[in-house]
Amino acid sequence: MKLSRFGARITGQSGISDLMDDLGDALANKPEMIMMGGGNPGHIPEVSKCFQRLLQDLANDAELAHSTVGVYDQPAGDQSFRQKLAAYLSGQLDQEIDASQIVVTNGTQTSLFMLFNLFAGPGEDNVNRKILLPMLPEYIGYADTGIDPALFHSLAPKVEPTSAHRFRYRPDFEELSTLDDIGAVCVSRPGNPTGNIISTPDLEELDEFAKSWGVPLIIDGAYGLPFPNLIYRDSKVYFSDNTILTLSLSKLGLPAVRTGIVVAPKAIAKRLATMNAIMSLAPASLGQALMSPLLEGGKLDALCAQHVRPHYLAKRDALLEAADRHFQAHGVDYEIHEPDGAMFLWIHFPSLRISSQALYEMLREREVLVVSGHYFFFGTSEPGLHSDRCIRVTYSQNSDKVLAGIEIIAKTVAEFA
Ligand code: PLP
Repeated sequence: MKLSRFGARITGQSGISDLMDDLGDALANKPEMIMMGGGNPGHIPEVSKCFQRLLQDLANDAELAHSTVGVYDQPAGDQSFRQKLAAYLSGQLDQEIDASQIVVTNGTQTSLFMLFNLFAGPGEDNVNRKILLPMLPEYIGYADTGIDPALFHSLAPKVEPTSAHRFRYRPDFEELSTLDDIGAVCVSRPGNPTGNIISTPDLEELDEFAKSWGVPLIIDGAYGLPFPNLIYRDSKVYFSDNTILTLSLSKLGLPAVRTGIVVAPKAIAKRLATMNAIMSLAPASLGQALMSPLLEGGKLDALCAQHVRPHYLAKRDALLEAADRHFQAHGVDYEIHEPDGAMFLWIHFPSLRISSQALYEMLREREVLVVSGHYFFFGTSEPGLHSDRCIRVTYSQNSDKVLAGIEIIAKTVAEFA
């Protein structure tokens, strides 16, 4: 097979394909495996019932069913959906959002592929620009999205202890002031893998840097604000005229409908719609049709506040308590990133004598699936000490299993630290 460079790279080995393969293999063939690896949302009965009802309503309405599955949407997404969403977001973002600022995509993964390659790589002006990830570790799914192989410039974070066995990462602003040739800045908020919620003042400062370079600040809100609201400390949604906010229906409980939403300045939204047309003609319609009735009368916010957020918060609290108990009972040297949002604990083992990948393999043999931390450090030759001493564990799945899993992790780490 004669492949392009891009073809060879995008079909070769990558962290995200390893992760998806591991997940798929465990789901299909290893029923005993404790799934603390991937980012599948948890099963929340009330939320499932809500979507089941919406699906039934849709199927019972011949006209709506036809318009949902029988016609291509506009490349930017259905006009009436985007108008409703714009009205909803105007209430949430403290500023008037117009439908022409919204583009629907086939998931945030696709939104970011489009945005990263729109702004970074060899430029029309021959400047080779990068996507700046100002605070590693960052979402594994970004790593291989560049048509240009060296798409990212990433910075190691500052590590700030917060209390016994807890810490928080922050951007190192001194490092930022030395940079140029940046095409866009991107942060996940809440962060994957850490659950960090970068503070509003820190975001404002990042936005100022982005403005000084004349580039946008992309905020990946897959877990966040305003929905699905997996937020466990006082935080506000951030949006400015220089911000691109990416949202997703996945963590609300609809990962399979593949629906992402981008809110951006009009000129950028227009380009994304053109990219949509080239890449897939139009975005999938089902997610928009299911979401549409929820945008009225505060239903979406109520679903998140009453069911989605409390579900994950209870799981987070249970896992955190069990992690402290088991790590301390087994004399493990550990610290956990403040779990302020999303569905993960990010755990640092300062005295680990094996690599995080070796720990991951050991745990997989013991039927616990986690993600090795090294995958989340890319776009730098100086990832820092945490890159090989951390794991990410997901708490979205069955609580009994997750609690059994953390005990196995504690026992295993105790053998190698
Ligand atoms: N961004 C982050 C931070 C994620 O964790 C994920 C999925 O896990 C995505 C984006 C991709 O989301 P989607 O399912 O909308 O493509």
